[in-house]
Amino acid sequence: MPLHTKIGIGLILGMGVGVTLNIWTGGGVGVEGFVSSVTEPLGRVWLNALIMVVIPLITCTLAVGVAALGDLRRVGRIGILTLLCFIFLTTISSILGLVAVNVVRPGVGLDSELVERLLETYQDQTEGAMGFAETSFGVEFFVGMIPRNPVQAAANGEMLGVIVFAMLLGIGLTTLSKEKATPFLEVLDSLGHVTIAIVRLVMQLAPYAVFFLIFSVTARFGFDILFNLLKYVLTVIGSLTLFFVLGYSVILTFVARRSPTEFLRQTRVVVITAFSTSSSTATLPTTMQVAQEKLGISSPIAGFVLPLGATLNMNGSALFEGITVLFIAQVFGADLSLSAQAVVLVLTVVTAIGAAGIPGGSIPLLMMVLGVVGVPVEGIAIVLGVDRILDMCRTTLNVVGDLVTATVVDRFEHSMVQSTTLSSNQSS
Ligand code: ASP
Repeated sequence: MPLHTKIGIGLILGMGVGVTLNIWTGGGVGVEGFVSSVTEPLGRVWLNALIMVVIPLITCTLAVGVAALGDLRRVGRIGILTLLCFIFLTTISSILGLVAVNVVRPGVGLDSELVERLLETYQDQTEGAMGFAETSFGVEFFVGMIPRNPVQAAANGEMLGVIVFAMLLGIGLTTLSKEKATPFLEVLDSLGHVTIAIVRLVMQLAPYAVFFLIFSVTARFGFDILFNLLKYVLTVIGSLTLFFVLGYSVILTFVARRSPTEFLRQTRVVVITAFSTSSSTATLPTTMQVAQEKLGISSPIAGFVLPLGATLNMNGSALFEGITVLFIAQVFGADLSLSAQAVVLVLTVVTAIGAAGIPGGSIPLLMMVLGVVGVPVEGIAIVLGVDRILDMCRTTLNVVGDLVTATVVDRFEHSMVQSTTLSSNQSS
């Protein structure tokens, strides 16, 4: 049986058993104890094994990718195309979210007693994230992009710092003579392959781990909150689905020249992994493997675009942020003007770039956006109870967006190289 089928079965079983247990026991103390001391740790062990290889994987593949691209003009060209794709996709998805929330208006008429209850229940979590919101996207964020100590950046999980260091490593290698560069390149290349081999091993356990992860979410989940916030949840999931089905299909068909159904078939494992881990970073090793082995994307392009994407490209998160800011504003009866919504659009795109690819990574930044446009920050408590489910869905969109970008960049680079070869053949 293929791996993705096994993981799919793990996902469905985990959901089924978790939901049944939740309904049966009402998600009581016993369930909480079992989840927090048995199933969740088991799932987290697997997640840790995946995240463990992310730093060496990013460093090796990005440095080798940049070095393999050869000259700096090519690195610049691919870098600009990649960033433009990220910004384009993130902007379009955020606009879609804003249109949807204006049409559906899920926050209007929400029961005020329910709002009070949610604000009270999730107050502690809101306060926890508040301090984080202040530190995560200030000037320091930009300063930290160039790490003083790359080892420390890696240890702290500061992906942008690691990316910048790895790119500089690759650029440095291109400036050396072949004789000097080759030994180190071979070490990096080999280490990159070792990490992929580890990922392959770890992924064999994915069907069980996914069962534990999804079981843990559904067994303790407050389904009554889901029903109370159904209009909001459906607005988010509906818009994410629309962008997934329509937006990505159009780009795949007309820009990347690939069949969307074939693309989806080839990337099933990535979709399931992103959905069950809620983390672009934890999914990155699988994304890299699928991009090269299933989609046939060249390794320098995959090695360049995907680590950047896991850190910078969050189409689903931007869409979610836009809807949530306006939803909370609607709940508090503050209708945001068109210009305030334009500010929200810009901020969601910028903060989606800064969000960490971990579960709930965009929440602190979302709180910052709320503060900037004058919506009560503590309103975030209203949505925290359903966030995990929404996180699973938006992370899927984030990761698939990285793969879509990689296919676009790969196609452009391919035709660029072809036309350059053709014209140099004609002139010689
Ligand atoms: N969990 C998301 C990701 O890893 C980030 C977010 O919270 O929106 O892509």
